[in-house]
Amino acid sequence: MRRVLLLGGTSEARDLARALAGHVALTVSLAGRTRAPELDGVATRIGGFGGAEGFARYLDDAGIQAILDATHPFAAAMSRRSAEVAARAGVPYVMLRRPGWQAAEGDDWIRVPDTAQAALIPGPEDRVFLATGRQTLLDFAPMQAAWCWCRQIDPPEEVFPFPKGEFLVGRPPFPETEEIALFQRLGVTLLVVKDAGGAASRSKLDAARALGIRVIMIDRPDLSDLPQVASVPDALAWIEDQLCPSDA
Ligand code: NAP
Repeated sequence: MRRVLLLGGTSEARDLARALAGHVALTVSLAGRTRAPELDGVATRIGGFGGAEGFARYLDDAGIQAILDATHPFAAAMSRRSAEVAARAGVPYVMLRRPGWQAAEGDDWIRVPDTAQAALIPGPEDRVFLATGRQTLLDFAPMQAAWCWCRQIDPPEEVFPFPKGEFLVGRPPFPETEEIALFQRLGVTLLVVKDAGGAASRSKLDAARALGIRVIMIDRPDLSDLPQVASVPDALAWIEDQLCPSDA
């Protein structure tokens, strides 16, 4: 069987792993940002490769013949580095980049280029729900909010870094009705979101629309120059093309 490396971190990566398991010699690589990867029965490695050199060495040692990059749309360093190393090593590479979210009627969104800009928008009356994760929480230190919550998947190991706020723990998916109930209970006035795209985590945006809550939408990093597909079926078709070109 051909050796495929799947760079994971998204629900699409899990779908790809399920579809490819048994058809290729698959290894899934996770950054280890959450504690409980749910990829039973698939060979999984966790943690960084040790930079570009370590990644190149890994590809060689493991005899990787194709790379499917289904990392988070904001894991830009990983995607760019992987594409560059793969090109140098002559290993076919593609990124699965799901489309970003688009505002529709009833949405009240402000688009900003990064977390630093997002942190400047809340005022002292705002009750801010940060759906942006723990990794970028400190970027919000300049925020003037009355209160903020930072939702993360695993229980926090540290105390909340700001005096007016706390962590919330929750593992997606979050049904819209639950998001509505949560935002109402907390009295949220402003939701901060990274434009990760995808159906699974759009419920918070639907809840914000239903409640008339403003959204600060942080633009995704521009990776439009990397080889990419936009869906799981397209990624599977790409793999088939790479591994069985005579069938194309
Ligand atoms: P990154 O800045 O692109 O990557 C940093 C380093 O993490 C990489 O150089 C690599 O280390 C390691 N890494 C990343 N993805 C990996 C994978 N699938 N397998 C093995 N190693 C991996 O990405 P990030 O630090 O993970 O996240 C950047 C932003 O993405 C975060 O702020 C967050 O918004 C968002 N995000 C990421 C994930 C995720 O699962 N990665 C999940 C949710 C949100 P080496 O150089 O040592 O190989």
